[in-house]
Amino acid sequence: MKRILLVSHCILNNASKVELDEAGLAEEYKLRSELLNLIVENNIQLIQLPCPEFIMYGSQRWGHVKNQFQHPFYKEQCRKLLDTILLQVQEYMQYPETFSVLGVVSVEGSPNCGYHLTCEGNWKGEIGSDEKRICAIQNSLEMTEKPGVYMEILEKEIHDRELSIPIMTMAEAIELLNKL
Ligand code: SF4
Repeated sequence: MKRILLVSHCILNNASKVELDEAGLAEEYKLRSELLNLIVENNIQLIQLPCPEFIMYGSQRWGHVKNQFQHPFYKEQCRKLLDTILLQVQEYMQYPETFSVLGVVSVEGSPNCGYHLTCEGNWKGEIGSDEKRICAIQNSLEMTEKPGVYMEILEKEIHDRELSIPIMTMAEAIELLNKL
């Protein structure tokens, strides 16, 4: 039996992440190492989801919030990116005696790949040099217990295609692989 996990792109390739002080990602990177070790130890096969932010905005992008990605063109691109992935998953799932699709692993806090946690805020317009405005933009940032745009679309596509694939955080994926 081949066991397959779908992972958000930056779990395998953190070069795709928005540029930031990586010290702030220490906890995430610890989970990532633990997860990747378990994946190798348990001979789990991987499908890497495309990174929608890197594809759309490249390496020079600002950090965004969920609100900024909730526009029809972007969402349509996400659906297109996920289509070929889900067609592959559908193929694997036609042969349950040979393949087992364990789930999709999210990146919590991301405006796209978070599942239980994303970030929202009133981020828009020219940043300018008005300190009050800059502070107001920064202070509007809120972590909310909701999925990011990409995971929201993925969840709907999974549902519409009547597939049974759980979406889980890295911590939940570690728990699952530890029980195998
Ligand atoms: S969009 Fe998703 S895959 Fe891309 S950097 Fe953000 S969390 Fe990672």
